[in-house]
Amino acid sequence: MITVNDINFSGKRALIRVDFNVPLNDDLKVTDDTRIRAALPTIKKIIADGGSVVLMSHLGRPKDGPENKFSLNNIAYKINELLGADVILGGDCIGEEVYKKSADLKAGEILLLDNLRFYKEEEKGDKSFAEKLAKHGDYYVNDAFGTAHRAHASTAIIADFFEEKKAFGLLMANEVLSLEKVLSKHDKPFTAVIGGAKVSSKISIIKHLLDKIDNLIIGGGMAYTFAVAEGGTVGNSLIENDFVNEAKSIMEEADKKGVRILLPQDTLAAKSFSNDAEKAVFPTNEIPEEWMGMDIGEEAINHYKLCLEESKTILWNGPMGVFEFSNFAEGTKQIAYGIVSGTERGAYSLVGGGDSVAAVNQLNLAEHVSYVSTGGGAMLEYLEGKVLPGVAALLG
Ligand code: AMP
Repeated sequence: MITVNDINFSGKRALIRVDFNVPLNDDLKVTDDTRIRAALPTIKKIIADGGSVVLMSHLGRPKDGPENKFSLNNIAYKINELLGADVILGGDCIGEEVYKKSADLKAGEILLLDNLRFYKEEEKGDKSFAEKLAKHGDYYVNDAFGTAHRAHASTAIIADFFEEKKAFGLLMANEVLSLEKVLSKHDKPFTAVIGGAKVSSKISIIKHLLDKIDNLIIGGGMAYTFAVAEGGTVGNSLIENDFVNEAKSIMEEADKKGVRILLPQDTLAAKSFSNDAEKAVFPTNEIPEEWMGMDIGEEAINHYKLCLEESKTILWNGPMGVFEFSNFAEGTKQIAYGIVSGTERGAYSLVGGGDSVAAVNQLNLAEHVSYVSTGGGAMLEYLEGKVLPGVAALLG
């Protein structure tokens, strides 16, 4: 893997695909700058070498050509603020005017191209559009892990026009190395904690992990489909009838492979889907009719924490309950603490996926786990064992 750290960019222009798809409010101000911050180390390295930078990204979902609210000009102020720079606005991402701007860049200067998705060709992975974008750089750098699962013009196809002159950005490299550490280079015992609403969205990950893990901790809404597969009754809890058989076959498969599946023995249930609903604890396989499972119970928390403390590798994706409701957030919270304490005892821990990351951030625990993935969909596909076009393009 070649990263920007392996290249001296002195006197060179680096065209960097970043993921600056940040949320904006009605005044078109950035409400969460995490993604911009994540790309700063790569930009700073290239500038420190004496190189210049051309930044390209998508922003939102423009339908039909340029629209002010999707212009990357809106976020330039934030990049300036974070970098202490004064970025030059491209005004477009292809065309003679913007080519001239990138050709004229001096060492230390940064050009921000406008939204790639103002052109339909971007998402279609159009080769000639990629070739036009490629004119902006001597080197191609991809630091947009969040879009690495897409074979778009700027995320994958463009790499063909740079032969050897391409590199992983530092964020992208960290993401891939952390996922590889967990999937291929892990110490044992390896525990995967999988939660979230549905079995259907996690089934491919679970199947891919069964060959690697020692323990599979299950929480969240998906636990009830497993409970039904074991012959339990789960009242009004979320279940996916179509996946009961899949859950059964996962349990059989796990058994054959010597993987221990941990299901919550007890569940904190509610009479309705609201924070203030009446609540009570039941065995997970005996939830009465008018009750729905909202969080794992205390017994499950303790059981899961013991397992985490003995683990040497931990992967967490998906909350243990409806953690958006404070009265049903305890399971998710305690599992986060369990992962932190496993990490303190020497485990390598990777947390990924919107809700688990949100939970870790809410609890200010991001610094206390080994790695927090920014990847979302890209990370999930990596965990499913898929080859990400954005990663393959840099390696090929
Ligand atoms: P996912 O995106 O699949 O990881 O699912 C995250 C969502 O699962 C969150 O919005 C949680 O509120 C939801 N969730 C977790 N546990 C339950 C549950 N027991 N019943 C319903 N939804 C749940």
